[in-house]
Amino acid sequence: FLEGKRALVTGSTSGIGLAIARALRAEGAEVVLNGFGDEGEIASLCEELGATHSGANLLDVAEIEAMMAEAGPIDILVNNAGMQHVAPVDEFPLDKWEMIIGLNLTATFHTTRLAVPAMKAKGWGRIINTASAHSKTASPFKSAYNASKHGVDGFTKTIALELAQTGVTANCISPGYVWTPLIEGQIPDTMKARGLSRDEVINDVLLAKQPTKKFVQPHEIGALAVFLCRDEAGNVTGANWSIDGGWTAE
Ligand code: NAD
Repeated sequence: FLEGKRALVTGSTSGIGLAIARALRAEGAEVVLNGFGDEGEIASLCEELGATHSGANLLDVAEIEAMMAEAGPIDILVNNAGMQHVAPVDEFPLDKWEMIIGLNLTATFHTTRLAVPAMKAKGWGRIINTASAHSKTASPFKSAYNASKHGVDGFTKTIALELAQTGVTANCISPGYVWTPLIEGQIPDTMKARGLSRDEVINDVLLAKQPTKKFVQPHEIGALAVFLCRDEAGNVTGANWSIDGGWTAE
């Protein structure tokens, strides 16, 4: 049902973004990928999805502007690229703070401001922001990440109101722990910060948060993104959709 629609998914060379890109493609959308990675792997993803790819670094406004200009009018914007760093606030590396706020929050502002005019002109658009359970609740040692994701929630609500009468919706998807390279990458730091073994981090820190005791699967997030693109979801806007195994219900 998405034939003729063009979707840009940031951070879609891996993990959740890739799963969302695949799900939108399966419904017929034309997909623009973004993110870093091995050139050969990206080329085969482009072939698999009939997609184009922008290697824009979303920490650089000029690169975002070039990506948006090259992509042309976007119907479905998925702001998904994100990064994490785990450290106590008084030891938090200053460059990591800037990067996390820059990528997770500020880049979302830039892509959105650049995508909205064409959506408004068409009278249809979907903005889907990958936030996090950490946009609704907190856990220690993730000050920059939690601040950025709470920011994404506030930003999304604001643009939902601004765009309410334009046919453009804006929503957050807020996963709990999803098994992706981002999660794997934070296990060693969490081991260090909390003095735990790998198994203890997985079972006592990560899955301890999720009443289902299961990692969310990336394709489940793709399915939710597809739902938000349906015309039946036209009145779903300014919402922050949890997909977290019950984490934020506690
Ligand atoms: P991932 O590390 O697998 O993928 C991140 C993607 O972002 C990659 O494609 C990477 O190349 C891209 N990227 C990184 N820095 C970039 C930059 N400067 N410019 C452009 N692209 C850049 O991560 P993931 O787990 O799939 O996470 C995707 C989103 O989901 C993030 O916003 C993350 O905060 C959020 N999230 C993840 C989880 C989880 O458990 N994995 C939970 C909640 C929210």
